[in-house]
Amino acid sequence: MALIVQKYGGTSVASTERIKSVAERAVSIAREGNQVIVVVSAMAGETDKFIGFAHDITDRPDEREMDLLLSSGERVTSALMAMAIQQLGYTSMSFTGRQVGIITDSSHTKAMIEEIEASRLRTALDMGKIPVVAGFQGINEFQDVTTLGRGGSDTTAVAIAAALKADACEIYTDVEGVYTADPRIVPDARKMDRVSYDEMLEMASLGAKVLHGRSVEFAKKYNVPLVVRSSFNQAPGTLVTKEDEDMEKLVVTGVTHDKNQARITIMGVPDRPGIAAAIFKAISDANINVDMIVQNISNVDHATDISFTVSRADGKKAFDIIQKVSDEMGTTGVNMNTHVAKVSIVGVGMQSHFGVAAEMFDVLAKNNINIMMISTSEIKISCVVDDHETEKAVKVLHDFFIRASN
Ligand code: ADP
Ligand code: MG
Repeated sequence: MALIVQKYGGTSVASTERIKSVAERAVSIAREGNQVIVVVSAMAGETDKFIGFAHDITDRPDEREMDLLLSSGERVTSALMAMAIQQLGYTSMSFTGRQVGIITDSSHTKAMIEEIEASRLRTALDMGKIPVVAGFQGINEFQDVTTLGRGGSDTTAVAIAAALKADACEIYTDVEGVYTADPRIVPDARKMDRVSYDEMLEMASLGAKVLHGRSVEFAKKYNVPLVVRSSFNQAPGTLVTKEDEDMEKLVVTGVTHDKNQARITIMGVPDRPGIAAAIFKAISDANINVDMIVQNISNVDHATDISFTVSRADGKKAFDIIQKVSDEMGTTGVNMNTHVAKVSIVGVGMQSHFGVAAEMFDVLAKNNINIMMISTSEIKISCVVDDHETEKAVKVLHDFFIRASN
C-alpha cells in the first residue's frame, strides 16, 4: 500500500464538473489499495476575483486581511471535493490549513511553512478516509491565517508529502508536465520526462510557474518524488528527481520568463559607506525580497544611481519605502518601471561551458532586444528586458539554445 499526495490546480477544479472528474481520479487510486491525500487550489479565476474586490476598495490592502480573503477560495474547493468523493461512495473529510496544523512564519501573502503537525491527517487516513486539504494556507504564531504566495498549493502538497513520508507527490495541472519553455509561448517546446531538483528549482524561481519554487526546495530537501502531469488525460508527466548519470546534461535545459517584476531606480545617491545598507535594510524590514541590484560607478559629484528589481506585487510598497529613505538621504529622485520582465536560461551543463552568456546577449541583440540588467549563477543567466519583448525573447532563446541542439 502506497501513500500518494495529489494536488489539483485551479483549472483542474475550475467547475463542479471538473471537481467530479478529479474526484474519480483520486478514488480510483484509493480503490487500488492506496492511501490518498488530496490538496486543492481555488477554482481558476477565484483568487484574481478576490484581489480585484480588494483593489476596488484600496490600492494598498492590509496584508492580514488580504490573507483571510485569499484563503477562502481553497476552502470552497476542499469542501466541494470532499462531497464529490463521498458521492462516489468513499469516505472523505475536508480540512483547512489550520486544521491540519500548517504553521508558517508571519510574512503575510508569502508566508513560509515552518512546521506541519500532521496527526489529524494520519488519523483520517487510518480511518480509511480520503482527506482533502485546502492548499496555499496556514496560520502563524498569532493564529492568524497566512497564505504561501501565488502557486503555494504546490508547496502545501509537497510539505504534506514530506511530513507523512508519502511515496509520491503528484501535481495535476493543465499541461502534460514540465516543458523546455512555457508551452503557451513556445508551441514547439519539448516535454521533459525527467528533470533534476536543481534545474527545476532554478526554473521555478525564475518564473516557470508550473511549480511553486518552495515546493521544489521541500521536495529536494526531503527527497520527495515529485511528478507533474495533466488532470485532463493519462499521460505520464515529468518526474522531478535527483540528478543521475543518464540524465541528459544539456547546456541549456529550459528558458523561463517572469513578468511579475518591477525595477526601482534611485538617482543621485550620495556615494558614501552605509548607503546601500540603509536602503536595503528598509526594504528587507518590510519583508520584500530584492532580486537584482545594479549600482553605477559614481560620477564627478560623488553621486551614483542604484537600480534593483522586486516582484511587481511588492512594487508600490517598495516604492513608498524608498521614496521615504531617499528623501532622508537627499537623492535626486526615485522612479519605478513596472514594464519590465526577466528572461532566463537554465542548465547544469552551463557549469562546464564557456561563452553561454555571450551567446545569450548576442541572440537578444540580433533580435533588437535591449538588456537592462543581468545576473548570473553557475546554472542560470537572467536578463531584464522590456516586458513587451518577453515572448519574442523567450522564442528566440528557445530556438537558439534548445531547438537547435535537438
Ligand atoms: P495550476 O493552476 O494547475 O497550478 P499553473 O497555471 O500554476 O497551474 O501552472 C501551469 C502553467 O504553467 C501552464 O499552463 C503553463 O502555461 C505554465 N508554464 C510556464 N512555464 C512552464 C514550463 N516550463 N513547463 C510547463 N508549464 C509552464
Ligand atoms: Mg500553480
